[in-house]
Amino acid sequence: MDKSFMLLLAVAILWCGCTDGEGNAGDLFKERAKRQIPKTVTVTTILEQPFAMKGESEALEGYAIDLLAELAQSMGFNYTLHVVKDGKYGAKDQEGNWNGMVGEIIRKEADLAVAPLTITVVRENAISFSTPFMQTGIGILLKKDATSGGSYLFGFLSPFSKELWIGIIVSYLITSLCLFLVGRLSPCEWTDPSNEQNKFTFLNSLWYGIGAFTLQGAEPQPKALSARIIAVIWWLFSITLLAAYIGSFASYINNNTNSAPNIQSFEDLLKQDKIEFGTLRNSSTFNFFKNSKNPTYRMIYEYMDKKKDQVLVKSFSEGVQRVRKSNYAYLGESISQDFVVAKHCDLVRVPEVIGGRGYGIAAELDSPLIRPLTIAILEQFESGNLEYLRQKWWENTCSAQTQGDWVPVQPHTLGGIFLILGIGLGLALIISIIELVCKSKSSANQEKKSCCSAFSDEMGHRFGKTPNQESLEKVQP
Ligand code: GLU
Repeated sequence: MDKSFMLLLAVAILWCGCTDGEGNAGDLFKERAKRQIPKTVTVTTILEQPFAMKGESEALEGYAIDLLAELAQSMGFNYTLHVVKDGKYGAKDQEGNWNGMVGEIIRKEADLAVAPLTITVVRENAISFSTPFMQTGIGILLKKDATSGGSYLFGFLSPFSKELWIGIIVSYLITSLCLFLVGRLSPCEWTDPSNEQNKFTFLNSLWYGIGAFTLQGAEPQPKALSARIIAVIWWLFSITLLAAYIGSFASYINNNTNSAPNIQSFEDLLKQDKIEFGTLRNSSTFNFFKNSKNPTYRMIYEYMDKKKDQVLVKSFSEGVQRVRKSNYAYLGESISQDFVVAKHCDLVRVPEVIGGRGYGIAAELDSPLIRPLTIAILEQFESGNLEYLRQKWWENTCSAQTQGDWVPVQPHTLGGIFLILGIGLGLALIISIIELVCKSKSSANQEKKSCCSAFSDEMGHRFGKTPNQESLEKVQP
């Protein structure tokens, strides 16, 4: 009994020692992995912006170079880095030989490929990939003015949103109505109708409002304080609207001349014949269309295959140059396209992205480096370092970028001026009523009537009976 208890105790102590928390198990794995990692690792990469680029001192810099430095530090290896000799990612020829970075890995000319190398089935059968360090898809890169974008007959209405136009029309009608009311209520504006025709009829009020919009100061000019308040507030409202309209119209015209073509999807590309489109020769993008069963993507492949000598490019930078200089759309990985769009304001990537895929670090088939690499990448991901590198290398330096984000002026942008107009109109109506009350008081004193009946008489004059009716009533016994 004593012996078996001692044996159990020994096993328990041993077990506890081996799995002393997660940290120890992790450290053990790291130790074991470190023993399998060669001291100096040969790394191949490809010149592709912003993953690996030649800096001022001819040294390589970029996202992939920073990532490699981080991984080397966390896994504890030294490395020698070179650019892939044939400048290719890796494709299999008819004899089954691989070129590019994949070929270098297979021929053991490099231990690792740290580059935007897409994880695909055919490659996964020949080499091993770590977990993806970046996700991407296939997008369309276009020149902003590749086709005539949205020039349309009533473009002059575009600077303001529909809601704002409705708001302006309603404000204009309400202001004209208030001017008409004030013109009647205020004793300064309303001279005795039997002697002089009142000037602010409703039609005149409408005309007055239009005059302010065209900066013409239409007649009649108001005399009463209340009517002048309306005039001033309306001028202020009109000037603010004009300034907003001119500003928005200028950027609308600017934006429209640089507008994105009417291509918003891969289907749109097929529907037109003005713009040629293509991709990188023998790339994973080309193979995606080749292997796709989707009829639209199949048609894209058939088009590219038929015109392969014309539309397939040798490198991404050649594709970008073609997009900038001719009527050409480049189909390729959206992440690289986002980079050139952030640097060149004349380029745009359409919103549709298809065929999600990832970039992984490649090593020879079943390499012991893969698992430590995957763990190191996950560590970089969880620490937020991958996100930091992404922001660092994809920084937007296209100052005119905001042009593409043009939107019509919305009512809330000019909400303040609508509020001031509302307050002004309310104030003017109150003042005109006070003016009329004062006038009613003095006429009540003169005619020895009550103030209320004098006020209702005044109102009757202004809004009730016409002068002709009144004179008729006076004549009849
Ligand atoms: N990253 C791709 C590859 O590994 C090349 C670019 C592309 O397919 O657009 O082949």
